[in-house]
Amino acid sequence: MDDIRVLDKEFVLYIREEVIQEKIKECAEELNAKFCNSADAPMVICLLNGAAYFTVDLSKHFNFMCQIDFVKYTSYVGTDCSCELSNFIGLKDSVENRDVILVDDIIDSGFTMSKIIADVKSRNAKSVTVVTMIYKPHTVQAKDLQVDYYAIKMDDSPFIIGYGLDYCEIGRTLKDIYILKD
Ligand code: IMP
Ligand code: MG
Repeated sequence: MDDIRVLDKEFVLYIREEVIQEKIKECAEELNAKFCNSADAPMVICLLNGAAYFTVDLSKHFNFMCQIDFVKYTSYVGTDCSCELSNFIGLKDSVENRDVILVDDIIDSGFTMSKIIADVKSRNAKSVTVVTMIYKPHTVQAKDLQVDYYAIKMDDSPFIIGYGLDYCEIGRTLKDIYILKD
């Protein structure tokens, strides 16, 4: 299946499943090197929905013990004040004094991840490690965003779907990654 249609758009095969899985294994090995001697089990936070597939496959290669939580991150401006409120829906335990590994599907502008990092730090995590399946370094606009690990780096910035990534919520279940046809 090299060409597919999702709603009103055409997509072309871009990265095959085998390549994705190989890159994920390499990424997990880097995390293993960092966390293999951890005294405490780090807390892996998977940012739903996009990072679900990546987080599961990545964690299958871990050689360290960890807690894993699948969460939705919501942020909104409060109704009776101008402050921004945020919440992790599905986070079971406090991140206080924990080594936190944040896992997302893609870092594009980086604004989403920047906000989440700041939030986790404000909750007094011991450390924050950022992992993303797809990293587009040249599209990052968020200042001082540190991406610690990635599986796939893209030097161009096409819109992609598959393996967790969606177009209007469709396409996440594709095993391969597809690129928008121009
Ligand atoms: P950022 O805040 O611009 O880094 O955007 C992050 C979020 O935008 C990701 O978690 C995705 O949900 C979405 N996103 C960014 N680029 C793409 C893409 O190429 N395909 C699908 N979703 C994307
Ligand atoms: Mg996302």
